[in-house]
Amino acid sequence: MKAGDVVVVPLGARRVTGSVWDTASETQWKERKLKHIITKLDAPGLPEDLRRFVDWVADYTMAPRGSVLALALKPSLLERPQTRVLWREGCISARVTEARKRVLATLAAIGAADTATLVNAARVSTGVIRAMANSGFLIPQVQSEKATKLNPSHPAPVLSAQQATIAGELRSAVRSQTFSVTLLEGVTGAGKTETYLEAVAEALLAGRQALILLPEIALSAQFTARIAERFGADPTVWHSSLTHSQRRRAFHQITSGDAGLIVGARSALFLPFPALAAVVVDEEHDTAYKQEEGVIYHARDMAVVRARLAKAAIILASATPSLESWVNTQAGRYHHHVLKSRHGGAQPPQVSAIDMRIHQPPRGHFLSAPLVDQIASIISRGEQAMLFLNRRGYAPLMLCRACGHRVTCPNCTAWLVAHRRLGVLLCHHCGHQQAQPATCPACYATDTLTAIGPGVERIDEEIASALPQARRLVMTSDLISTQEHAAESVRAIEAGDVDVIIGTQMIAKGWHFPNLTLVGVVDADLGLSGGDLRAAERSSQLLHQVSGRAGRAVRAGAALLQTYHPDHPVIEALVSGDLKKFRAAEAALRQPGGWPPFGRLAALIISAKDPDVAAQAARNLAQQAPNSPGLDILGPAPAPISLLRGQHRWRFLLRAGRRLAIQHFIRKWLNQVPLPLAVHVTIDIDPISFL
Ligand code: ADP
Ligand code: ZN
Repeated sequence: MKAGDVVVVPLGARRVTGSVWDTASETQWKERKLKHIITKLDAPGLPEDLRRFVDWVADYTMAPRGSVLALALKPSLLERPQTRVLWREGCISARVTEARKRVLATLAAIGAADTATLVNAARVSTGVIRAMANSGFLIPQVQSEKATKLNPSHPAPVLSAQQATIAGELRSAVRSQTFSVTLLEGVTGAGKTETYLEAVAEALLAGRQALILLPEIALSAQFTARIAERFGADPTVWHSSLTHSQRRRAFHQITSGDAGLIVGARSALFLPFPALAAVVVDEEHDTAYKQEEGVIYHARDMAVVRARLAKAAIILASATPSLESWVNTQAGRYHHHVLKSRHGGAQPPQVSAIDMRIHQPPRGHFLSAPLVDQIASIISRGEQAMLFLNRRGYAPLMLCRACGHRVTCPNCTAWLVAHRRLGVLLCHHCGHQQAQPATCPACYATDTLTAIGPGVERIDEEIASALPQARRLVMTSDLISTQEHAAESVRAIEAGDVDVIIGTQMIAKGWHFPNLTLVGVVDADLGLSGGDLRAAERSSQLLHQVSGRAGRAVRAGAALLQTYHPDHPVIEALVSGDLKKFRAAEAALRQPGGWPPFGRLAALIISAKDPDVAAQAARNLAQQAPNSPGLDILGPAPAPISLLRGQHRWRFLLRAGRRLAIQHFIRKWLNQVPLPLAVHVTIDIDPISFL
């Protein structure tokens, strides 16, 4: 038995899977209550650096170590995958039922496929597949479980001089097998991806592994194709919508070291890589990297830790770096490389503001005349437009015109959002859904409930009536929820079957559509009023990114921002393109008060079903709040969403200097104040959401 081995141990009456964490001398363990290991599993062990990573994350986030280990050790994946069988068409002799016809049609369409794929695509049971195999309809073809090797020497594009210089630095960082952090900054289209793939090539060349983290799984269809182009084979992907058998196969390819490049969502950080040499966090500023439930952690920050423990080089890539990373470059903790221009001389989009005070649309409409005219004009040239509004559904609020009642969620402090396509009112916080009431729930008047404000579906409707000839596609996470569906939408856009793409956050990132020349931001002010400390920063990043979708190829692009505040610093920065000035101004605002990244924050959220119990717990904690120089405690205050999923919530915000171990104070504080079991305390270190 050695440290890292995966074992089964007794826990009360249960048997649980765990890992040998460390070895200790007899004198150390004699004092503790130990149990015997039942058995050691024939499974890949947890490497030393992964165990230290679990320790580190648990300490830092204050989550129980077992919860963090559960991210790294998944008993259901340990069993080695059975050899996968791909089916192809055999001889057709017996009766062909409708179900069997569907299976054959599927095979004709996609070639050989495994059982799970056939079951899904042809909507049949596994029994049908088995029976077809038995009667010779289907012929098995055993497929190797090994990942296809990526070829680091596959012909690559010739890098520009600037790209090549930076790629050289990144390659030598990987080669040195020491820890380093590099911020790779560059406007969208500058070739950041092309450049950091050179670092990946270096890792592959040494027979080691690379991990690329992406904020959105929606990216991966186009992204995977791109990797295949660069390295001649698909990478191993890791995200939440894999099937169990895909996941298990990927897991074993990774633990065996067979998978050279893993592209994944944040959970990929906890995989047991035996030979991690390079990590890339693409779109490092993206707040989707923050895991807000269970173990609350920021994947970008934890990726840096993982890289340090693995002695790997890590690259943070972004067109709009987070203030955190930028300040780290200023302080000399991170290297910093900037790709200054778009590859191939493509010009950055011309960004302009549309002053909505002047170009106010009629009541119930949300698109100004200049924006609609511009869309009409580029469509007539056969180009494509994208409209961005970060609001799913049809309208964010249903209001009774008779009594002013607003339809709210029974479980949350939130309005219900009207979704016409789904035909329901939906809570975006807890998922509560209900039919749209025919009468006002407060005054019982009929036909008085009115949709207020726009969601993407309403913008779609407005385009349909303004430009009836335009072919439209709405892209949001609720309408396009599978990889296949996303890929299909991308194909339709690439094939030129779409004139106007209307979407939320989902369309902001990564996509590369050469024929897209106009981006319209329906409500550029939306994120500015967020009220939290990063609202302006986040808004500038998101809008810059959205604007960057335009004109990525030969044709020049334009972005139009509809705003009621054209002189807001964020809008001015976007129009002038001087984000650096904006960043410096943001930093100057935050530094004096010791706000992040110049100080640290931690949030304590106290919640309970009973409002009095929650309030009392917050008061008790307040009475015993730690008092220490360099530590400020704000609150308790009712959370902005004071009711969430039926829980009443109070918040404390702790602010401390960068060097103060804020966790230590929280631990002591919570140990001092006994709280009833009905009270739940959530600790959020480095919070980015303040709701
Ligand atoms: P970023 O990641 O900075 O947005 P990409 O790496 O995606 O930029 O590059 C933008 C586009 O330009 C991509 O289609 C990419 O293949 C192409 N490109 C970038 N650098 C080169 C190069 N040196 N040679 C050929 N094509 C390039
Ligand atoms: Zn709700």
